Amino acid sequence: MSLSLPGDEQLRKNAQMRAVIKRELQTRFAPEDDALRSSITRAQAAGVPLIQISPLQGKLLQVLALTCGARKILEIGALAGYSGTWLARALPADGKLISLEVSSKHAEVARATFAAAGVSERTEVRVGSALDLLPTLMPEAPFDLIFIDADKKGYPQYLDWAVRLSRVGSLIVADNVIREGRAFQTPPPDENAAGAAAYTAKLLEHPRLVSVAFPIVTDGLSEDGEAMDGIAISVVRD
Ligand code: SAM
Repeated sequence: MSLSLPGDEQLRKNAQMRAVIKRELQTRFAPEDDALRSSITRAQAAGVPLIQISPLQGKLLQVLALTCGARKILEIGALAGYSGTWLARALPADGKLISLEVSSKHAEVARATFAAAGVSERTEVRVGSALDLLPTLMPEAPFDLIFIDADKKGYPQYLDWAVRLSRVGSLIVADNVIREGRAFQTPPPDENAAGAAAYTAKLLEHPRLVSVAFPIVTDGLSEDGEAMDGIAISVVRD
């Protein structure tokens, strides 16, 4: 039996359609204001890589934070404060976002982004390796939402800490769990894919987590300008 695959022209059209749909959704559901936009230009000027989440993912984080009534949020991987701004804006005035970041340069840019967004009072960027910082957070637990978005190798251990630092009903969200499908290969072909694969395996067998994952088309480096990654969302139960 011969398998009929779409030709180049059809693939190009499909990619164009996805780009239009993404732009329309972004415009309607997740418009960026000056503070969010300036986080990107600030990152660019400082030589910080532009690997932040998309506006729609930012809005998803906000919706999730509001859904679980988040007052305390933990982020692992601040970069330039883009996702942190979306999250902090979902917090009440006396809420708190703690964002862990290994690079002091990234942390400095993230703090400037939070100041520009008017959320400095409810945000704190702590500098250091996440695995060193996470145990020190026990006295500040539980966190209502934990967003994991740092080095993929550390993801399985970040999940262990996220559960320790959570309460029943907390949400644990992790970006980049698909890696263009590389996380589903056996064995995963690189360290990042291996970290994402181990993360997914761990959350699926965890007795206290109910989880789902979605594919996300990002602006990637492939010929048609797209890359397929994904986000996992887990809720902590008794
Ligand atoms: N969450 C950010 C956003 O969407 O705006 C993007 C985070 S970026 C993908 C990953 C960040 O994690 C980088 O800033 C990197 O320096 C930081 N990072 C990498 N390894 C880390 C570690 N072991 N501990 C803490 N932060 C780390």
